Amino acid sequence: MDRRRFCPVCASALVARPIAGIERLACSAPDCGHVFWDNPIPVVAGVVEHEGQLVFARNARWPKGMYGLVTGFLEPGEEPAEAVIREVAEELGLVAEVTTLIGVYGFARKNQVLLAYHLIGHGEITLPDGELAEAFHVAKNKAEYWPGGTGLAVRDWLRSQGYDPQPRELPETVKAWLAAPPDMD
Ligand SMILES: [Zn+2]
Repeated sequence: MDRRRFCPVCASALVARPIAGIERLACSAPDCGHVFWDNPIPVVAGVVEHEGQLVFARNARWPKGMYGLVTGFLEPGEEPAEAVIREVAEELGLVAEVTTLIGVYGFARKNQVLLAYHLIGHGEITLPDGELAEAFHVAKNKAEYWPGGTGLAVRDWLRSQGYDPQPRELPETVKAWLAAPPDMD
């Protein structure tokens, strides 16, 4: 759970108490009534195909050996498909088009809901905004998936194309990092 401490409405302290069957943080002021529901946040993710291969990327804050998809939050009023196209442009420098919504996946570890799209990217990969440390191509018949989060979208899209991807054995350094990730976002 997010450990925020103060009510965003009246700035009184938040206190934990059971509401609708779950322990939640709620405002301590009797006349306020604010509840911090901590609902999962939607995040778009892109399985990007470029020059016939998939593109995986390593965020600049991730350890070597860990990689994933381009992801991002939606701007106010933005359609999810527009958001993933924008993120691919900002992070990879590619002009992309969405072909399909792969699926919607809960991601409890980060309190997110992932909306995963397949896109075709055009142009040269340039990493314009510096959020990614590296991006690289993997042949579709060699791609592995990490069994959680956006990896399930990689698995499901490859299966939909007739491939038989295998789960990826994560390096020990990545496992350790995932077990105790630094504060992010
Ligand atoms: Zn309050």
